[in-house]
Amino acid sequence: MKWVIGNWKSNGAWSQNEALLVALKALVCENTRVGVCVPFPYLAQAQRMLQESKVLWGAQNVSPFGPGAYTGEVHAEMLCDFGCRLTIVGHSERRQYFGETNAQIAEKIQRLNAVAITPIWCVGETLEERERGAWQDVLRQQIVEVVEIVGAAAVENVLIAYEPVWAIGTGRNARPEDVAEAHAWLRRMLTEAGARPDLPILYGGSVKGGNAAELFAVEGCDGGLIGGASLSATEFAAIVAAAEKE
Ligand code: PEP
Repeated sequence: MKWVIGNWKSNGAWSQNEALLVALKALVCENTRVGVCVPFPYLAQAQRMLQESKVLWGAQNVSPFGPGAYTGEVHAEMLCDFGCRLTIVGHSERRQYFGETNAQIAEKIQRLNAVAITPIWCVGETLEERERGAWQDVLRQQIVEVVEIVGAAAVENVLIAYEPVWAIGTGRNARPEDVAEAHAWLRRMLTEAGARPDLPILYGGSVKGGNAAELFAVEGCDGGLIGGASLSATEFAAIVAAAEKE
């Protein structure tokens, strides 16, 4: 069973989302768990359009705080009001542009666990880190620091997304052998941290209809987190079709 989750990022418009959500609802997903993470303002629209389908929906971020004086934040219980079942934490764009730290990611995972929303916990190295041979250390730190804070039990129900930053939105996907190696390393790191090594690990980074089958065929790859291609109904359908065949 594979997962295919769309990440619209900061894209969408009320008038255009409708067509994309209609197409999502029509997808055949017998062997695949399909979901979409939309910007906060469109959660109600996703809920209305998808609630009678098998497609899950959720947000792309959550506050590390609960309710209170945190202007601009959206806390986990609010996401429940919109029927969210999944939410992304630690996306590289949030680490890069908003300085999200492993400690904040740990807090967000706990907030989501408390309301039974599945965290999609993103990890991945930059190009510079890969080129200087530091990708394993980076992934170790991203996994171990969070598990040290939340404890192994708190990550029992998460989805991990391995998203090498150099492959996100660049059109340059990681090679299947890179994905196999990184996912195997992540499973070792989970073990080292005392967590379950058999958590679903999705790959993210320039997945398209044309490369999804070879990426999903990689041993230890449980599906994909899809950015750009999730904005095209036909590309996304092709990716889901590739997952269905696995
Ligand atoms: C993402 O945003 O998580 C992502 C993988 O983006 P893209 O598919 O556009 O590389």
